[in-house]
Amino acid sequence: MSENKIPYKIYLEESEMPKSWYNLRADMKNKPAPLLNPGTLQPMTAEELSGVFCEELVKQELDNDTPYFEIPTEIRDFYKMYRPSPLVRAYCLEEKLGTPAKIYYKFEGNNTSGSHKLNSAIAQAYYAKNQGLKGVTTETGAGQWGTALSMACSYLGLDCKVYMVKCSYEQKPFRREVMKVYGADVTPSPSDTTKVGRRILEEFPGTGGSLGCAISEAVEVATSTEGYRYVLGSVLNQVLLHQSVIGLETKTAMDKYGITPDVIIGCAGGGSNLGGLISPFMGEKLRGERDYRIIAVEPASCPSFTRGEYRYDFCDTGMVCPLAKMYTLGSSFIPSADHAGGLRFHGMSSVLSQLYADGLMEAVSVKQTDVFKAAEEFARVEGILPAPESSHAILAAVNEALKCKETGEEKTILFGLTGTGYFDLVAYEKFHKGEMVNTIPTDEDIRKSLDRLPKV
Ligand SMILES: *Cc1c(COP(=O)(O)O)cnc(C)c1O
Repeated sequence: MSENKIPYKIYLEESEMPKSWYNLRADMKNKPAPLLNPGTLQPMTAEELSGVFCEELVKQELDNDTPYFEIPTEIRDFYKMYRPSPLVRAYCLEEKLGTPAKIYYKFEGNNTSGSHKLNSAIAQAYYAKNQGLKGVTTETGAGQWGTALSMACSYLGLDCKVYMVKCSYEQKPFRREVMKVYGADVTPSPSDTTKVGRRILEEFPGTGGSLGCAISEAVEVATSTEGYRYVLGSVLNQVLLHQSVIGLETKTAMDKYGITPDVIIGCAGGGSNLGGLISPFMGEKLRGERDYRIIAVEPASCPSFTRGEYRYDFCDTGMVCPLAKMYTLGSSFIPSADHAGGLRFHGMSSVLSQLYADGLMEAVSVKQTDVFKAAEEFARVEGILPAPESSHAILAAVNEALKCKETGEEKTILFGLTGTGYFDLVAYEKFHKGEMVNTIPTDEDIRKSLDRLPKV
C-alpha cells in the first residue's frame, strides 16, 4: 500500500489481536540473570517464589525458553474492553516540526487507568483468582498501576491492597479516589502499618517515599497474610511478557501497511512498556532477521541505565525482595519527587538490562522541564494530553525527528505513548508557573547508594 494511504490511526480488528504473548527471552543468547535468594545467593526456586507470587506467574517468570504463551480467553475478552489500541501516524507533529521523518506512536492511554499497565494487571489478577486466592497487594507510584490493578481486581472479584508512594498520594489525590471507586484499599507509603515501613520512616523521617519502599511494604503484607500474593506492575519478566501485546499489535498494524520502523523509542521506568513495545522487533534483531535502533528514555533525576551499574541489587528499599541483576542506582537511592512518578525506580528490568549490556539498545536521559515542553508541543498538535512519563519518549522522538530535518533523512520513528496526563495537572501547573526544577543526583549521591549494594 502506498505511503499516502496510511491513515491517521491504524486500528486492528478484534480478530487480529494477538492470541499469545511473546517471550523475548526465548530468543536471547545471553539470558537475563536469574533472581537470587538474598540469604543463600542461589537462584530463587519456583517453590521459594510461590510464597510471593501465584504459581502460573512463577512459571512465566522462570521460563527463558518458551517463545509463546497462550493468552487465556478470559484475558483476551477483558483486553477487548480497550484494545486493540490505535497506532497513530503523527502527521500533525511531523508538519509542525517540518521533518521528513515519519513518526508513529502506539497509544496505550485509552482506558480509565490511563496507561498500558492494565495489560499486565488483568493477567496477574486472573492467575491469582484462578489459584483461588482472596486478594493481592501491590505498590503504586504515580497511581497508574494501582488504578489498573484495582480495575482488574474489581472485574474478577479479588481484594486489592495498594501501597501508594506518599508524595504521589499527596500530589495525586484524584488517582487515589479512582482506586477507591474500584474498591481498593489505599495506604500512603512508607506507613506505620508494616515493620519495614516503620524502619524506613525511622531512617528517613519525612521522606516522600519511593517505589522501592512501597514494594517492601506490599511484599511484607502479602507474605504475612493468608490467601494473598504480591503483584508488581513492572520490572519482572512476567510483566514484560504480558506487555508484549503492545509490540505484537504494533507489528501486525505496521506489517499490514508495509511500514518498518528505523528507530523505536520508549520511556523506561522499570522497563515494561518499552520491553513490550520492542519485543517482536527485538526478536527479529536477535534472530538476525532485521536491525532496529532502540532507545530507552529515562529521567535525569533517576538515570538507572545511563548512570547506574549493572549489578545484583534488591528491587526494594527495604531489602526484603529477591536480588535482581540489573542496571541500578542502588536500592537505597531515593529519587527526587520528580513528576514522572512512574519512572522513579532505582533499577531496570533484567531483560532490558541484559540487552543494554550486550549493546542491543541505547539509553538517554532527559530533564523534566524539557519533557514538559515537548509534552505541551505534542498536546497542541496531536490533541492528546500526554502523561509526563510518556512525554519522555515524545521528547526523544522529537529530537530524532529534528536530526532527520538536518540530514534530510526520511526515517521512520516509532514511539510508545504509554498514557494520558489528566491526573498530572499539578505538575503541568508547576511547569506553567515556571516553578518546575530539574533535580539531578550528583555522582556522590549515586556512589553513596551504590556503595551499599549487596556483595554478590
Ligand atoms: C508506569 C508507567 C510508565 C513506566 O513504567 P514501565 O514499566 O517502564 O513501562 C510509563 N508510562 C506510564 C504512563 C506509566 O504509567
